[in-house]
Amino acid sequence: MENKVLDNEQLEIKNHMETVVTQMFENMLKRLDICKCEMCRKDIIAYALNHLPPRYAVTQKGELYYRLAEFTQQFEIDVQVILAEAVQVISQNPRH
Ligand SMILES: [Zn+2]
Repeated sequence: MENKVLDNEQLEIKNHMETVVTQMFENMLKRLDICKCEMCRKDIIAYALNHLPPRYAVTQKGELYYRLAEFTQQFEIDVQVILAEAVQVISQNPRH
């Protein structure tokens, strides 16, 4: 019973960098002329996340987007630069 305790908790630890990268990539994707299969899309997101620091925070379960104070305009530019690099690397060497 002791190890079931986490199931009922209302808060979760989430890497918000993953949320930010996924949302930014989805916004970019419409304008990109690259393969959009699931493998390529997820490889691009994984590449970007491996090159960006994680941003763990505690949120209410199910909360979709939590804007951290450090998510400034410069921060968003940095994420976009890494995403652009990820797009280039994966689309030049796709695994599909
Ligand atoms: Zn593909």
